[in-house]
Amino acid sequence: MTNPIYELAIIGRITWDLHSLNNEGSIGNVTEPRTVMLADGTKSDGVSGEMLKHAHVQALWQIGRGELPLCSNCQKLEPSKANESDAVKQTKDTDSAMAAAVTGCALCDLHGFLVEKPTINRSSCLEFGWAVGVPDNWHRDLHLHARHAVGERGKPGKPEKPAKDDKAAKTKAAEAETGEQAAATEEAAGTSQMVYNRPTRSGIYAVVTVFSPWRIGLEHLHYTYLIDEAQRLKRYQAAMRAYQAMFWRTDGAMTTTRLPHVEGFAGNVVISRTNLPVPVVSSLDEHYPQQITSLVETIGDGLETIAFANMAEFVKVMTDLSQGSVPYTLAKEG
Ligand SMILES: [Zn+2]
Repeated sequence: MTNPIYELAIIGRITWDLHSLNNEGSIGNVTEPRTVMLADGTKSDGVSGEMLKHAHVQALWQIGRGELPLCSNCQKLEPSKANESDAVKQTKDTDSAMAAAVTGCALCDLHGFLVEKPTINRSSCLEFGWAVGVPDNWHRDLHLHARHAVGERGKPGKPEKPAKDDKAAKTKAAEAETGEQAAATEEAAGTSQMVYNRPTRSGIYAVVTVFSPWRIGLEHLHYTYLIDEAQRLKRYQAAMRAYQAMFWRTDGAMTTTRLPHVEGFAGNVVISRTNLPVPVVSSLDEHYPQQITSLVETIGDGLETIAFANMAEFVKVMTDLSQGSVPYTLAKEG
């Protein structure tokens, strides 16, 4: 085996300007951005691991179409419903259901699934932490917009207002009524249109994600590989490509009108080439590159790290690792 990869971690800082990739939901006509709390009590802006996993799934699905086997549900991009997969439904026991799900679908294999009947599950080969706004390096604005009904412009009427008992929404709406936003409110008051508030955020975000190529094609009922090395390599390379795509154009909420301006991406890829979990150091700490280098040297034992200073370098690192390495195969016996 040449250059096996057991696990790899991508640890870095990405700058997204003017995005709204992830939100708590809406209160009245105000959409609330995600807020997270750090260990020292600091509040920060965040994009959830679920959203980043979704971004990887979206990219992998596009890359995998016509290239990789996809189950009937994943072809329609409904991977959470593996139990409705045609191939899985025809099975009678857990072994054959697992085999059908893993061999028949690269997306189910890589991102995991839950089957209710027979009851089996597979955890994801990829893990994503929250993308967290680096303290003092993120900002939020609430912008007020007016949606004009066709033919209604200029007609008298009332704009939609937050519910009376919704204090938070009213506060946010009040915050928004400054400068040009106040002018928009004034204009909206004379028409029968809907007024709504949307958050816009900019910041440097710390990201951490781990990929475990050793688990590709491996079922955990008997710990045997269900697909051959050539298939494992194809799935590994597709997952690496999807990583590139999810960072060079991140999919998420509100990208129709708040497509993120990607200003920069820098960090480290940490690689474990032997059966040792890859270490993950948070990129919230500004000295994380030195910490990673020092940790990798201290642990030794098949670990290495490659730094990248921008998106193009990140893409090159991932392409080199994709073309020059193969997924690690777990030994059958010690
Ligand atoms: Zn699937």
